[in-house]
Amino acid sequence: MTRPVTVTLDVEDLRASAEPEDRTVRMTEQVLDLFGRFEVRASVFVVGDVAERHPSLIRRIAQEGHELGLHAHAHIPIASVPPKQFHNATAGARAQLQDLSGQEVPGYRAPMMSLVPLSAWTIPILAELGFRYSSSVLPAPSPLYGWPGLPRRPFRWSDGLIEFPCPLVRFPGVDLPYLGGTYIRLLPDIVRRIGLRRATPSEVLWTYCHPWEFDTHEPYHTLPHIGRLASRIAWLGRSRMADRMGRVLTNPIGAPLGRIASDLASTDLPVVDPGAPPNLGPMARWADGRLRER
Ligand SMILES: [Zn+2]
Repeated sequence: MTRPVTVTLDVEDLRASAEPEDRTVRMTEQVLDLFGRFEVRASVFVVGDVAERHPSLIRRIAQEGHELGLHAHAHIPIASVPPKQFHNATAGARAQLQDLSGQEVPGYRAPMMSLVPLSAWTIPILAELGFRYSSSVLPAPSPLYGWPGLPRRPFRWSDGLIEFPCPLVRFPGVDLPYLGGTYIRLLPDIVRRIGLRRATPSEVLWTYCHPWEFDTHEPYHTLPHIGRLASRIAWLGRSRMADRMGRVLTNPIGAPLGRIASDLASTDLPVVDPGAPPNLGPMARWADGRLRER
């Protein structure tokens, strides 16, 4: 039987300026329309500065029954501001999102999965601010951001925050986040089917995408923090995205991550000390962080 897949959407505006026209609202509305056609209730992670500029978009997301999560106060790597500033900006952005939506905001997703050993100091702050879960790590070596050695199933950081790691499928020499937007756009459907077939019962499966991945008319620009190669990849296959995502949405759909976190709250999960160093082999040490901006 096909395993349920929770749908998530990361709402962000990666352009240097919101002028001259706001593509983010238009594209987010298109994705919400798509979710509506499939009667999907998603976990929608919104960047704080986007929520501030577009309160009516947040109200629509809430009214349509989606769960709201925070995709950081700004779309920058999670640890690129000092701890005090991170604390205050994250608290403010969460409060704003809760006010606009009239909902608790239970979850946090780091931009670009940038929760890595070097940014582990953010984890106790997220727990202290009241987040119940995070879905911010890629548990493998990655040319951008990855945290090799973490469990591939939900686990608890030692301060209590539940983590839903990004689902991966293992092929020789590489672990692919097969339910991520880039992979849905670029790889044949068979990869997703293999991933779903190989998923273990303890994994929580979730797919993620971004409004800009559906934007076939956006002029190319180099995206911040990820460099030219990854930026080029972000423009590939956009004309296929709506169709491909539609196919994903025909899968049985899982509950929003906050609901799953509530169900898991009283259960035993593996516990991970964020201060423990990851165990990297030589290939993983070479690959990890290769494309990250330095
Ligand atoms: Zn993002």
